[in-house]
Amino acid sequence: MAERHLPPSYKWRREDYNRTANLDEFLPWFEDWKFGWLDVPGLIRNCPHSYEYPLVDRDPVDRWTFGNVTLMGDAAHPMYPIGSNGSSQAILEARVIAREILNHGETTAAFFAYEAERRPATTDLVMLNRRNGPEQVMQMVEERAPQGFKVVTDVLSQQELEDIANNYKRVAGFQVEALNAKPAIVPSTHAPAMSSAG
Ligand SMILES: Cc1cc2nc3c(=O)[nH]c(=O)nc-3n(C[C@H](O)[C@H](O)[C@H](O)COP(=O)(O)OP(=O)(O)OC[C@H]3O[C@@H](n4cnc5c(N)ncnc54)[C@H](O)[C@@H]3O)c2cc1C
Repeated sequence: MAERHLPPSYKWRREDYNRTANLDEFLPWFEDWKFGWLDVPGLIRNCPHSYEYPLVDRDPVDRWTFGNVTLMGDAAHPMYPIGSNGSSQAILEARVIAREILNHGETTAAFFAYEAERRPATTDLVMLNRRNGPEQVMQMVEERAPQGFKVVTDVLSQQELEDIANNYKRVAGFQVEALNAKPAIVPSTHAPAMSSAG
């Protein structure tokens, strides 16, 4: 519904999770969410406080390693929090850095080898998350059936659902069988021993 959109020239503020929200910016989207048993706009109006919850990322950068310093995690590739990925990718980076330090010693070469694997992979993910990642199915359904639907597969075929999910898993490295078939990133001989005392 076009009248709900703020104009492209709208002056958005820099992102901040601790700033109180401006109701004019989001309440219009929920004005007709009155279901008899639940009055969403009423709930929002009666809330004593509401805060901004911005969706934030950054353009991928073309370099992570600077001498003895490299980037990882959100410092390297802040992405939209879609597809349960920010921390998962940071954990993968910790493993790959560990492997490359084992291979190359504590050298810049270890960082370059790490970056060569992880930067292209996470660049693809940042860009895919901008298109809503696996959750793009919700946008597609909204566009194809603005008046609603009875069965989701009347709007989006099972094949389309599976293709979108599989593509995201491929880019994110979440394909269960492929993942289980791969050797460990860091060989278990180097992994720290688990202790029942934690
Ligand atoms: C709303 C939301 C939902 C999310 N959902 C998911 C999810 O479901 N699954 C998922 O995998 N990920 C999710 N994420 C992403 C995930 O939280 C981040 O990707 C992850 O926390 C990044 O870890 P990090 O260690 O790189 O950075 P951070 O967790 O940001 O850690 C950086 C740390 O450095 C500290 N620091 C900063 N400056 C300094 C300094 N000068 N000196 C010392 N310390 C400093 C900070 O205080 C912070 O503790 C979500 C993120 C958001 C915002």
